[in-house]
Amino acid sequence: YYNQNTLIYFNGEFAKAHSAGVDLFGQSLHYGYGAFEGLRAYATHNGTRIFKAEEHFERLKNSCEAIGIDYHWNNQDLIEKTYKLLGLNNLRSAYIRPLVFSGSNMHLNADSESSLMIAAWEWGPYLGHNLLRVFTSSIERPTPKSFRIDAKVSGQYINSILATSEALKNGYDEALLLDQNGFVAQASSENLFIEKDYTIYTPPLSNIFPGITRQTVIDICQELNFDLVEKNLTIQDVHEADSAFLCGTAAEIIGIKEVDQIIYQEEWEHTIGASIQRKYKNLVLEQENYEVII
Ligand code: PMP
Repeated sequence: YYNQNTLIYFNGEFAKAHSAGVDLFGQSLHYGYGAFEGLRAYATHNGTRIFKAEEHFERLKNSCEAIGIDYHWNNQDLIEKTYKLLGLNNLRSAYIRPLVFSGSNMHLNADSESSLMIAAWEWGPYLGHNLLRVFTSSIERPTPKSFRIDAKVSGQYINSILATSEALKNGYDEALLLDQNGFVAQASSENLFIEKDYTIYTPPLSNIFPGITRQTVIDICQELNFDLVEKNLTIQDVHEADSAFLCGTAAEIIGIKEVDQIIYQEEWEHTIGASIQRKYKNLVLEQENYEVII
């Protein structure tokens, strides 16, 4: 993620990543009390462009406010600083990771001073390019009654780490997690869509993380006149679908080959998901000349 020369943006300055000192006594390190974001910048015909930068930084602010972390930054300024950071690190395309964290307080209250760092590095699609083998995890998603599940909060990712580790240990690429009512919520760090009889389905917002890519997929469906329904999905719905895919900023849009050893019969390239995947690629690369092929 970084070498001797890598610069990060840290508390108002550009600094060497390897020598940016962090307080060892603080709530973020000890209790996972921090919030972060994941953005992508793409090398487009119009130069390097961060996809949906405003939405991501707005969500970072909301995540901090949701858990009482002081957010005293101006998002337009942070976006400008992020572009500068990409330039300083010679990155034309990148994954971008802002993190707000708190140090110097070991109590379990919500009034510590916050710091912000932004890092960027080259990163291919998080789950690779190949169709995925996924399985239903024994780990459930946190519930809205026990956590602010709409916030991208560091400590919450232990849930994702447990589910992903279990999936990898069992020979799968990624895990699907159920919500507290037994419906399929999402993957450990991506949202889920399935296709059945030419309609696209995705779980509603109530018990899932509100992915920005998920919203982009919904917008694409509207634009391309694909039928889309937001509804609770059972694991049987997922097993009996014609195809399925995951989406997220890091993973982008990636098709699923198999769920719990049930293999989708539909060729991925012929699915609506593959059309959405092509449209998404065009969108992030700001390419206008898109043709719908289904
Ligand atoms: N769910 C979780 C738990 C995530 O961490 C992410 C990635 N931030 C997503 C879904 C996808 O969100 P987005 O499309 O905004 O990247």
